[in-house]
Amino acid sequence: MQHVDIVVIGAGQAGLSSAYHLRRLGLTAGRDFVVLDHSPRPGGAWQFRWPTLTYDRVHGMHALPGMELSEAGVEADPDRPSSGVVGDYFAAYENAFGLRVRRPVHVRAVREAPDDPRLLLVETSAGTWRTRGVVSAAGTWDRPFWPYFPGRRDFRGRQLHTADYPGPDSEAFADKRVVVIGAGTSAVQHLLEIGPVAAHTTWVTRREPLFREGPFGSEEGREAVARVEERVRDGLPPRSVVSVTGLPMNEAIRRARESGLLTRHPLFERITPEGVRWPDGHTVSADTLLWATGFRPVVAHLAPLRLREPAGGIALDGTRVIGDPRVHLVGYGPSASTIGANRAGRTAARGLLRLLGQDTASPAPEQRPYPVPLRGQPSPKDEGTGTAEGVLAGGAAVRNAVPVG
Ligand SMILES: Cc1cc2nc3c(=O)[nH]c(=O)nc-3n(C[C@H](O)[C@H](O)[C@H](O)COP(=O)(O)OP(=O)(O)OC[C@H]3O[C@@H](n4cnc5c(N)ncnc54)[C@H](O)[C@@H]3O)c2cc1C
Repeated sequence: MQHVDIVVIGAGQAGLSSAYHLRRLGLTAGRDFVVLDHSPRPGGAWQFRWPTLTYDRVHGMHALPGMELSEAGVEADPDRPSSGVVGDYFAAYENAFGLRVRRPVHVRAVREAPDDPRLLLVETSAGTWRTRGVVSAAGTWDRPFWPYFPGRRDFRGRQLHTADYPGPDSEAFADKRVVVIGAGTSAVQHLLEIGPVAAHTTWVTRREPLFREGPFGSEEGREAVARVEERVRDGLPPRSVVSVTGLPMNEAIRRARESGLLTRHPLFERITPEGVRWPDGHTVSADTLLWATGFRPVVAHLAPLRLREPAGGIALDGTRVIGDPRVHLVGYGPSASTIGANRAGRTAARGLLRLLGQDTASPAPEQRPYPVPLRGQPSPKDEGTGTAEGVLAGGAAVRNAVPVG
């Protein structure tokens, strides 16, 4: 059994930001807190993203707090896969701040210590940690959402999820008839890539996709965040960013819509061995079904704490779990973006230090008061011109963040 004040679960943007702020507040990695991650390499979920998601195609990605990409000495070639760029950046960041991430360590369960209800036990593949607080920053990548449809098992073709998307060059798409299901950014990106190589594509969504024309200012961002936060505060499952903001329009999307590639069809009724069938009886034959149906928060390890509300989500006040103040969720709901994760990490670190009864009034000086944009993104000072996701997350942080002194 090992003892630390705080265990951080996950070393993606959310976990590293939390660790950075814990360290900045005076805690030492490896002694006062530990960061555990079950992935093989640095990079959080970015290490698993498909090779054609090159660095120039990532939108709205913000630097981790305290060190920008150029300072990390990482080669940020726009044509390089973002998995490599971000992986190298996170590795350099972990080293620079001595965060001593333990990997691969899989967290199986967090439960109350039977002999002391103030403490938690974090049970892992590398033993058990006894701790006073937990930051759960496990992301969503490990929990792809596959909606139920009758007939899915009988389909004779191939079925993939965004989590397994290999890029358009795969045999799953070349000269194949592909049905893409989902209304988010991933679905649109997949269609733009697959369209030119596939024999035929069909786009299916539950609701009419909402394309957002025109600027998305901080006012709209704050309103959208308020809606996501309200759900999370009420213990409802968080919704995706795009469900609140709509899909940002750009030139490639405009052209794809004009060409018919982004013509949307309503949801089919069932999957047949050969394809999909709608309630009026018409069918589309398919070789591949690509499910771009999103991800759900990875929270199964918290199940012994019984945090889930009857409404299906975990109720939060900022990042703190309302039902258990020893647990903070970062990268969840309104903080599920790179900039949102940055700021939520700071909120969680400060919240836990308060819980531990340690003074957080005078954090060590930071190199910069705000995270530095990674590539052409606005700083939080000029949020109004950012991407939907950046602005959305920025709005969340404005509401939640403890001001930097
Ligand atoms: C396809 C896609 C594209 C995106 N594009 C953008 C974008 O352009 N801009 C943007 O701002 N945001 C984007 N996002 C969202 C963004 O990636 C995340 O919100 C952000 O990086 C925060 O990540 P995170 O740390 O919460 O999660 P992750 O990066 O997923 O990190 C979670 C970590 O927890 C670890 N973990 C999980 N479970 C356990 C366990 N039980 N035990 C131990 N370790 C565990 C994982 O190994 C992982 O390293 C995108 C998301 C997706 C899915």
